[in-house]
Amino acid sequence: MTKPQTTVTAIAGDGIGPEVMNATKAVLAAAGANIAWDDAVAGAEVFRAGIATGCPQDTLDSIARNGVALKGPLETPVGYGEKSANVTLRKYFELYANIRPVKELPGVITPFSGRNIDLVVVRENVEDLYAGIEHMQTPGVAQCLKLITEVGSERILRLAFALARAEKRTKIACSTKANIMKLTEGMMKKVFERISPEYPGIAPSHVIIDNCAHQLVINPEQFDVIVTTNMNGDVISDLAAGLVGGLGVAPSSNIGDKAAMFEAVHGSAPQIAGKGLANPTALLLSAVMMLRHIGDFEAAASVENALYVTLEEGRDLTGDIAPRGTGGGTDAYVARLIANLGRKPTTVAAARDYAPLEMPHWPPGTYAIAAASREMVGLDVFIESEREPTNLGASLVMATEGSAFRLNGLTNRGVQVWPPMGGNTFVVDHFCARFLLRKPLVGEGVAEIADLLQRISRQHRWMHLEKLQTFGGIDGFTKAQGEG
Ligand code: NAP
Repeated sequence: MTKPQTTVTAIAGDGIGPEVMNATKAVLAAAGANIAWDDAVAGAEVFRAGIATGCPQDTLDSIARNGVALKGPLETPVGYGEKSANVTLRKYFELYANIRPVKELPGVITPFSGRNIDLVVVRENVEDLYAGIEHMQTPGVAQCLKLITEVGSERILRLAFALARAEKRTKIACSTKANIMKLTEGMMKKVFERISPEYPGIAPSHVIIDNCAHQLVINPEQFDVIVTTNMNGDVISDLAAGLVGGLGVAPSSNIGDKAAMFEAVHGSAPQIAGKGLANPTALLLSAVMMLRHIGDFEAAASVENALYVTLEEGRDLTGDIAPRGTGGGTDAYVARLIANLGRKPTTVAAARDYAPLEMPHWPPGTYAIAAASREMVGLDVFIESEREPTNLGASLVMATEGSAFRLNGLTNRGVQVWPPMGGNTFVVDHFCARFLLRKPLVGEGVAEIADLLQRISRQHRWMHLEKLQTFGGIDGFTKAQGEG
């Protein structure tokens, strides 16, 4: 039976991109994948043409039309805009899941060879510190907002469970820093604990992210699926790739509801570009992920197994992974890969048996969670001041006498400095003054807040406010170190 044809957007990219893309297309064609390539551009030449995103509308349209893209590395040339085209693509298509399989490759010798590492890191890809919302609070104090949502956590977690099922994996470790960031990182942990009973047969566990990094180095074989927030995932996915040969052989996918983009993790390697030396393994493994995504499990297994056989035999490998002095070029490697299609490896497990990934579906819309009840209990006012904490505290107490709020305490970088706790606290000119309401407010308290700010502004500079609210009787804010 003829396979249905799938149209895939191909963005060759910069540097070695065209070489690894052509190599990958050749192997996929030889493996019988029925793909029509819709070639599109992004990266350096687009930036130089004056398009600040590095990604022309034609390319965005092509991905929107096809829903699947295979992408080579992209460069952001110095002096042409600050935004990376990769990030533009991820954000434009809400590619919320970054999936990075980490599997030992035969013949790619690392200190971990022989331990049969075979895990997958699922990283939330759009939220967290990567929302990129930063503000200078004072000339010397910078702030970045870490936004983690319940819906964003739930969709990445459900995708990770679906992936575990599709790949017939039996364990999933959610890795967060919930012990310190109880509300943000704790959100993912809380949702993980809520939904994991819905997936019998997949053993859930939680591991604190720093211990996860430690465990990945000490005992990586214990992991099957690791799911984590964006920043954590950024770091540990590279760490995990390093266990099996590094970024040069690491594949990845970026998946959303409407589109999926498959790409090698490495960059454009300009030093070897155009010389016929590039190793296409990472893009080829990314294309294997893509074949499974479009349902061609047969071609995916065939290419993956041919790759293992080629690496096992160690002949015609590219210079970066060949035994010293035996390295060849991209063309010879591709010819060897094609010759090995249809064979199965003997020293490592053949390609896994995959089932289709049942993507959780999150239709576009506004996601909101209603509170059972909500009450404002106070206000955090962030103040720029060079005064000593005791002096600042006394001044704010005086300024707010007779107002709706009373000063509860001052913190500096999260540590209580007024009332003083003792200790050797180092302070900067950025204080959080926590005011609590003397009695509950009727309505939103706009007039009372305005009055408080006016009183503060007579003597001090303030730069932002945070409402202190309870939701369903539970505090929606954390307490500072030492705060009563
Ligand atoms: P890189 O391009 O990954 O190259 C680092 C070194 O790794 C290369 O010089 C080369 O080492 C080796 N290498 C990487 N991929 C290889 C392959 N497929 N085959 C053989 N050797 C390979 O990292 P970079 O130099 O930091 O970045 C270069 C450019 O790529 C930058 O403009 C960066 O912004 C961009 N970049 C793009 C992406 C992306 O699009 N996803 C990711 C990372 C970087 P030898 O010199 O030893 O041969």
